[in-house]
Amino acid sequence: MRGAIARLFRRVGLALILALHSTAAIEPDAAMLLLKQADSIKTSNHAEFNQIMAKLESQRDALPPAEAMYLRYLQGWKIAYDGDYAGAIPVLNGIIDSSTDATLRFRAGATVVNMLAIARRYEEAYGQLSKILDLLPEVHDRDAREQGFVVAAILYNQVGQYELGLEYAEKLLSEDWAGRGACKGGQLRLEAMYKSGQLTNPDKDFQAGIEACEKLSEPLHASVIRGYVAQLLTRQDRAQDAIDLLTRHYDALRRTGYARIVSESDALLARAYKQVGNVTLAREHAERAVADAVPNQITEPLVTAYQVLYEIARAQGDYKSALAFHEKFAAADKGYLDDISARQLAFQRIRQEVAAARFHIEALNKQNQVLQLQQQLADKAVENGRLYIVLLGTVLLFLLLWTYRTKRAQLHFMRLAQRDGLTGVSNRPHFMFVAERTLEECRRAGEPVSMVLFDLDHFKQINDAHGHAAGDFVLKQVTKVCKSCLAEDEVLGRLGGEEFAIVLPRASQDAAMRKADELRARIATVTTSGNSHGQPVSASFGVAQTASAGYDLQRLVASADVALYHAKRSGRNRVASFEPHLSMGAIA
Ligand code: GH3
Ligand code: MG
Ligand code: MG
Repeated sequence: MRGAIARLFRRVGLALILALHSTAAIEPDAAMLLLKQADSIKTSNHAEFNQIMAKLESQRDALPPAEAMYLRYLQGWKIAYDGDYAGAIPVLNGIIDSSTDATLRFRAGATVVNMLAIARRYEEAYGQLSKILDLLPEVHDRDAREQGFVVAAILYNQVGQYELGLEYAEKLLSEDWAGRGACKGGQLRLEAMYKSGQLTNPDKDFQAGIEACEKLSEPLHASVIRGYVAQLLTRQDRAQDAIDLLTRHYDALRRTGYARIVSESDALLARAYKQVGNVTLAREHAERAVADAVPNQITEPLVTAYQVLYEIARAQGDYKSALAFHEKFAAADKGYLDDISARQLAFQRIRQEVAAARFHIEALNKQNQVLQLQQQLADKAVENGRLYIVLLGTVLLFLLLWTYRTKRAQLHFMRLAQRDGLTGVSNRPHFMFVAERTLEECRRAGEPVSMVLFDLDHFKQINDAHGHAAGDFVLKQVTKVCKSCLAEDEVLGRLGGEEFAIVLPRASQDAAMRKADELRARIATVTTSGNSHGQPVSASFGVAQTASAGYDLQRLVASADVALYHAKRSGRNRVASFEPHLSMGAIA
């Protein structure tokens, strides 16, 4: 009811627009409104559509470009609707080539597919179909999408690709825009199912689609659906039911003026009347089907109509007519079958071409991917190369660091091994090593070496009187004062306990004596507490020189020791030099 009122208002509004603009130029807004109006009623109210189109065509030169293009599209559609497919195709192709509106291009493409198929230019039709289906994801206008789905479903159904036909019919049903999916999708779904033998119940399965189309005032689609019902009923020997169904809507259908479907209805009625034995009406509808058939085309209704006419003539004994109709029937049937095989051939060829093109594109894409991967690999190789260098650098750095640390540790431990733990001066083994080396170098150089030995006096007493720590303190202080007056090549060593030695390269006996005395004097400044309150410390010195003792280390040390012993015996805190006439034995 509400739909009917809305339609009424729409028509009144449209009539007003038409009346108001019957003489004046159409305003752009009004033009777009009229175009949309014409578009929406082009099949449901073809007469009014023609009326609006006439009005718009008279004002064509005044229309803005977008409106002019829209009008051009509707003109193309109208030419096709009127049966001049050959005339419609160039108009629509012009839109595909020149319109900037993607949706309009898509719609023109969809209409061209339809026209090409009707004009039996199947290869072009299926080629164009695959192009517009590729465009589908970009098209969001629901009207246009609907048109695309419709065309796809029709064409797939036409070549017996019912699975595909069903797929696009289902898309129509699922997008069901304003109930139109239910009508057109329903029709095409039923067609796919009917033709693939999946439909068996004519009383139930078709009803929803017919109702949806009637609600939308789409008599053509409703009629196509009824056509399947009628065919199924006739096939099931229920020809009278088929006649009842078709005749109820027959006049309304004829009024649409859509020759192809009207012709189909006539052919079906002819077949049904023939079956129930009503020869008169059978012939009448068969003749109408032939008269209304699309010119220069062999369609299924035409084949049916000639067959009915042949059968009637034969039954009536009119063999002359029967022969003539049979010839036409045979030609039409052959033509129709040829047409079907031509369609199927075209479909398969285009499908192969599209598949080949897709395969080619995929191959190119794959090639591209491989190239990209190669590039990435090359990049990775460079990156890896860099990484290796960095890694190598890091490893090298680590090795250097490790070597350095190891060396430092080695040196540290070596030094530790060479030093006396308490005083930090060379320990006995190291001192002996250094002294030996010095002696050797000086021997070779013909230079003298002096050996100074000293021993702290009464050190045991210091320990006893002031404690072991004080004794240690004295030892450290003594080495400290000694070191401060020694040159770099004059090495001090602790031989043990409170006994020390100094090797003086290139030092004469006198110079060594002076050095020893200087050291003695310095040691005398040391006290057990580090200040004047502490007990003073002293040491006794023995000095030997290579000139008298020779370059043998043991002998030189022993000689210095003899001199030291002599200093002790002489009263301590003094320096004694080794005299060759002195000997261990002599001293002892
Ligand atoms: P002399 O004048 O005859 O050399 O008498 P002396 O007491 O110095 O000699 P003696 O050999 O009798 O005593 C040496 C003492 O030195 C014995 C020992 O306890 C002490 N001594 C040895 N090494 C150390 C040390 O590292 N620290 C301390 N505090 N005492 C030590
Ligand atoms: Mg001693
Ligand atoms: Mg001593």
